[in-house]
Amino acid sequence: MLNVPTQAFPAPSSQQRVAAGGRAKVPLKPGRSLMDWIRLTKSGKDLTGLKGRLIEVTEDELAKHNKKEDCWICIRGFVYNVTPYMEYHPGGEDELMKAAGTDGTDLFDQVHRWVNYESMLKECLVGRMAVKPVAAPKGMLPEKKVLGASAKDLTPSYDWFQTDSLITIVIYTKQKDMNGDLVIVDCQDKRLRGEIIVGDHSYLVELDLYQAVQEDVAVNIAEKVGKVEIILKKKDNIHWKMLGQPLESHNTLLKRMDRGLFYRKCKLVSKTEVTHDTKLFCLMLPKSTHLHVPTGQHVYLKQIIAGTEVVKPYTPVLPFLPLDFKEPSCHDGACIYLMIKIYSCGLFTQALNHLQIGDYISVSNPEGNFKKSQVQTSEDLFLLAAGTGFTPMVKLLNFALTEASCLRAVKLIFFNKTEDDILWRSQLEQLALRDERFEVQFILSQPTKDWTGKQGKISSSLLSEFVKRSRKDSKVLICICGPTPFTEQGVQYLKDLGYSQEEIYAFTA
Ligand code: FAD
Ligand code: NAP
Repeated sequence: MLNVPTQAFPAPSSQQRVAAGGRAKVPLKPGRSLMDWIRLTKSGKDLTGLKGRLIEVTEDELAKHNKKEDCWICIRGFVYNVTPYMEYHPGGEDELMKAAGTDGTDLFDQVHRWVNYESMLKECLVGRMAVKPVAAPKGMLPEKKVLGASAKDLTPSYDWFQTDSLITIVIYTKQKDMNGDLVIVDCQDKRLRGEIIVGDHSYLVELDLYQAVQEDVAVNIAEKVGKVEIILKKKDNIHWKMLGQPLESHNTLLKRMDRGLFYRKCKLVSKTEVTHDTKLFCLMLPKSTHLHVPTGQHVYLKQIIAGTEVVKPYTPVLPFLPLDFKEPSCHDGACIYLMIKIYSCGLFTQALNHLQIGDYISVSNPEGNFKKSQVQTSEDLFLLAAGTGFTPMVKLLNFALTEASCLRAVKLIFFNKTEDDILWRSQLEQLALRDERFEVQFILSQPTKDWTGKQGKISSSLLSEFVKRSRKDSKVLICICGPTPFTEQGVQYLKDLGYSQEEIYAFTA
């Protein structure tokens, strides 16, 4: 549905939009880019037809507005007149019409809950639903409504104690294999937010602390017993009468999907060239944040562009491949590295490119459903990447070569337009020389005549040449990432070649 950020991406003429065998993307008419939409919303034009009034909308009234030329949609209790937005919707009018005249919250959350519709559609706001809509607001459900009786036993609990100088909050997660990837802590001013990922649920401790604390926050995890300690240093060594005032979502266990995205401001500490159009951005997390982005997951960056919040996903990489000859410039865990291609007409990447060292940008909690255990149980790992689709492969490669002992062979098949577009080429070649399990194959779609390597686009014949089990019955995992049609075609070719759904993992939004 309201897939705001990617509407002009890729260009209308690009292969990414309509590809044989791939899903057809909907080309937007000229003058219907995200920037054009932002301009229209700032023009002062009455986009709701209500001359600035906000009304209470009944379900019957909402249902009446179910046509392209008169379309209202409810998201989280607020009703928007999306008629003027129709032509700007990157997913196309038909996608938007699926929710016409109804509560589109679930549909919206399924497709891209990270899109900031409040900001994008603020000029289209008609009013609130008169009767509470079926879908409940994010992060607002009390615990008892979220869980059944049996699930309640699995709800983490917390306790706290203090010394003269420290406050320790102990969270009993009731989960055996706790690790740093599953604990996200932020402390901004006096507001503490500690999130624990428990399977596909999220447990939150969220308080306005009784007294101020120092900036640095320590997190200790007793992995085997599932105990997490958040240690705060008091600013003043006085006795606390209480831990603090619970905030709205405090002590709740919700489905991860129902928890709103949380952002913290990170400082840009370096910006280095990777290729002619791609840069490695190093963002430093605040001292008061504890966050690791797990392998295969992405974060969202948020910027205000022309007064509107715009959000885009990016997949953190490592500062370099596991060649162990360089020291990281930022100590482990304190920085997030993003490898980002700057598009000459890109709305978000142009704004990113203009950030100066020392500037701040909002970074969300990680998301994604890739499971590292899939790699650990495989014998052959194939990574099919196109362009910046290489980004999720970086941590994966590192994990595979350093921690997955069952793996016999790891092969990266990397599709690019030209030699100049290949990301980290020399590092990949060095890694292949150093680790005999690793092999890299570059395939170019628009090579110069000097290129002696492989040439072409993703196809059944290329895949049958490069993706082969090392033994007849070896356990295989094939990960694929790139422009959507590339990924969709690749998955189809792999299935045609006899690989099962369980053997393929496609990185998508
Ligand atoms: P837009 O304003 O949306 O549009 C781009 C304009 O740039 C188009 O009109 C066209 O002229 C041009 N353009 C865009 N793409 C192409 C193309 N492929 N070929 C030719 N021209 C093009 N990107 C990264 O760089 N690094 C990442 O780590 C990364 N991770 C992602 C993770 C996920 C889960 C997803 C879904 C996407 C990821 N992306 C990543 C893509 C990223 O989210 C943005 O879509 C991208 O940065 C473009 O944003 P933009 O606003 O600059 O471009
Ligand atoms: P690019 O340079 O435009 O293309 C890389 C290679 O893919 C080129 O060889 C290109 O061939 C080929 N290709 C492009 N479109 C194709 C299509 N429709 N069918 C078959 N092959 C195609 O790529 P990019 O600009 O870096 O874009 C990377 C993409 O990866 C973006 O769409 C980004 O959103 C996505 N991405 C997704 C994730 C995720 O986790 N989901 C993470 C990172 C990036 P041509 O010569 O034919 O163009």
